[in-house]
Amino acid sequence: MSRVLIAEDEPRIASFIEKGLRAHGFATAVAGDGRSARAAARSGDFDLMVLDIGLPGIDGFEVLRSLRAERCTIPVIVLTARDSVQDTVAGLEGGADDYMPKPFRFEELLARVRLRLAGNRQGEVTVLTSGGLTLDLRTRRASADGRTVDLSAREFALAETFLRHPGQVLAREQLLSHVWGYDFDPGSNVVDVYVRYLRKKLGASRIETVRGMGYRLAEV
Ligand code: CA
Repeated sequence: MSRVLIAEDEPRIASFIEKGLRAHGFATAVAGDGRSARAAARSGDFDLMVLDIGLPGIDGFEVLRSLRAERCTIPVIVLTARDSVQDTVAGLEGGADDYMPKPFRFEELLARVRLRLAGNRQGEVTVLTSGGLTLDLRTRRASADGRTVDLSAREFALAETFLRHPGQVLAREQLLSHVWGYDFDPGSNVVDVYVRYLRKKLGASRIETVRGMGYRLAEV
């Protein structure tokens, strides 16, 4: 199991990242300030760090600078405000492996995390299956009852979320935050629209509506 350190002082964002990563089989820990982030990264207990630039104490730039000066090679994905991407990239002096402008969708971060960990991905699930439905997370291919199905990135992410929680009722808000991100309007009907797309492509009975609660992957 890969271990990810989340250095983020905003509880809402930290828990959004943490919940998502845990649901995808990662072990996580959160550090809410620069000093504890640096100490945890040095400990060797983590395979990757997601690092917010605006941290209290010492900021993300300084955390990264001092880690790299000590030859600490932990892969780092930096989180930065969308309007300061250019400053951030300049300020990183090549110390980060990747960066992620805020706000972001969880799936975008997940893709970057997976990419950075690609060298040591032992034990991580790459194919999900349930009742004739198969998703290959590496090739991003989907199939239903033996036939290949063409899914958009968003449809794939939604299908993946269902397959990771077989038999479980998933509320619209849960699906929204998983697939669309924390800044999405909770009143949006985008989940229902995409469930409809998936039913059309995968079979209408594949996803059940649980009235007043949400949706569930049918155990076909
Ligand atoms: Ca911050």
